[in-house]
Order: sequence, then structure tokens, then C-alpha cells
Amino acid sequence: MSILVLGGAGYIGSHTVRQLIDAGRDVVVADNLATGFTAAVHPQARFYQLDIRDRQALDALFESEHIDGVIHFAAYSQVGESMSRPLKYYNNNLYGTMQLLESMVAHDVGRIVFSSTAAVYGEPRSVPILESDPTVPTNCYGQTKLAMEQMMSWVSRAHGLRYTALRYFNACGAHPDASIGEAHDPETHLIPIVLQVPLGRRESVSIFGGDYPTRDGTCVRDYIHVTDLADAHILALDYLLSGGESDVFNLGNGVGFTVREIIDVAREVTGHPIPAVLSDRRAGDPAQLVASSEKARSVLGWEPRYGDIGTIVETAWAWHRSHPHGYAEV
Ligand code: UDP
Repeated sequence: MSILVLGGAGYIGSHTVRQLIDAGRDVVVADNLATGFTAAVHPQARFYQLDIRDRQALDALFESEHIDGVIHFAAYSQVGESMSRPLKYYNNNLYGTMQLLESMVAHDVGRIVFSSTAAVYGEPRSVPILESDPTVPTNCYGQTKLAMEQMMSWVSRAHGLRYTALRYFNACGAHPDASIGEAHDPETHLIPIVLQVPLGRRESVSIFGGDYPTRDGTCVRDYIHVTDLADAHILALDYLLSGGESDVFNLGNGVGFTVREIIDVAREVTGHPIPAVLSDRRAGDPAQLVASSEKARSVLGWEPRYGDIGTIVETAWAWHRSHPHGYAEV
């Protein structure tokens, strides 16, 4: 009984593989290494370097492994890039998922957990956001994830496949032992960018907009630890394997922090003054994104363990300090 993790060399994928293996599960990882890293692949996982758009490679994998469930992270995820290169996102996120589902149906593999995103909601009408709230994405990335959810739903009706879509809010932090963590190139996310200042890799951090209708004028986000996300994937897979129906779940802590508050936490954790410079708003940023994750808690029994923002930033700092160039050998 093996679990296939597609995109298992990436940020959230590698943390999920780690939790699966620590729980004694047999894991197969597939990744095209476009944004993932060989060094992030767990040594106890059987690794296939393949692209999910390669139907033959997928078929060969399903024929040589006995896969009971799939956890699918293999997608592009940069909002800005999705706006300038939308077809790149349609090609990987939608065409790739289509190839995957065709291969799964052909090989009778009927359970899949996959990454969706808070970006499916667009500008929320109210917070905390519920799964039943309107989905009106304001960027191409969110649109492709919503379309993936819809594709799953139709395939589920036609072929009996069951799925869970996990809509993450702001993934952050690193494994508490600092052996794996976040490494993007280019880096666009707030916490790793803030920590580049004490690492000596940038002079200051820019705050994108100080005139939002929030308590200090900067955007509010719900930061959720990557290990808690990993736990949720395993619970969601076990839910499907024990007969659960297809469903959609938000994953967040239900608590929002402003950009300024995050910088203050990082100052405390690192002991560095971290200069911040107010700059223009970034296009497409909603003022507030905060999840209601009551459904994941009640249906999946999910209980985030790293809800404290100080602990979250500490784990990120321990990773970045010990791996200042990520997985790159310098
Ligand atoms: N942000 C910022 N400066 C940066 C990077 C991000 O002020 O250098 C802000 C961004 O505008 C957003 C928040 O930090 O309000 C979180 O951004 P991130 O890109 O980490 O995640 P997103 O919410 O876009 O998924």
C-alpha cells in the first residue's frame, strides 16, 4: 500500500513526505524538479523524475507501483507569473492534472488529495472565509486551481474518483528540525523575504501598501505552518481511504496578522532591527484573507500544532539560518 506524492520535492510536498514516512507509510515521490530540489526528496521515498504532462511516464509509474492514493502538489504557484504567463499555468496546472486523472482512471486509482488555494475566493466579501463563500478568482493562478477543483468534480461524477481539495492560506515555516524548508527562486513570500535582511541578503524589506482598511494599514493574512498543512493532507487522504466523500477544506489558523506585525515578530525572533520601507501596493492584493477552518477541524479532525506566530517564524529562521542559500550548494 503506497502513497504517491506528486511534487514531493517541493516546499509543502517535501514536508508531507516527511510526515508520511515518519508515520511509517510507504511513499513514492514524482517530481519534474522544475521548482523542486533533489536534496528535498526523502531518502526513504522511491523517486521518479517525471512530468505529470507525460502520460506514458505516469502510466509506467502506476503499472510498476501499487498506488492506493495520490497527493498532488505538482503545479505552478506564483500569482504574478500567472498574470504574465497564463498559458504556462493552464498547461501545467490544468493539462497536467488532466493527464494525471486520465492515467489514474485508466489504472483504477481512485483517491486524490490536492493543493488548492485561498486565491480561489478572490476579494472576500467577509472574513473569516467559509468554503461555501463565492469563488471569484482575481488572478490566473487562482483560476487554474478553481478549474482543477471543477475538473475533479466532473471526473468524480463520471468515474467514481473521490478527491479532497485543500485551500491553503499563507503557507510558511519549516520542519522543526530545520532539515527541510522553503526555497523559492525568485522568492516572493513575506516571511522568507523579511528573514533575508538579518541574513545579510537585503538591506530592508518593502511593505506593499500602508493604506488598506486594516488595524495598521497593511494587509492581513492567515499564516499556517507547513507541517500543519502536511498533517492535513495525511488526514484528508485517510478520510478518503476510509470512505469519505469528495469535499473542499480551507486550511488556516483563523487568525490574521498584518505585514507590520510579521516584521515585528521577525525582529523579536532574530534580534535584528530589520528596516522596513513603505512602498506602493502590489496589484491584486486583497486587504484581508483569514480562513475559517472549522470544517477541516470537525470533518478531518485537524488540529494545527504551530498556531503561534512566534514559533512559526522561529522555525523559518532556524531553516534559513542553517541553509542561507536554500538547497543550493555554494
Ligand atoms: N508583502 C510585502 N512585502 C514583501 C512581500 C509581501 O509587504 O516583500 C505583503 C504582500 O503584499 C501581502 C503579504 O505580505 O499582503 C503576504 O504576501 P505573500 O506574497 O507572502 O503571500 P500572498 O498573501 O500573496 O499569498
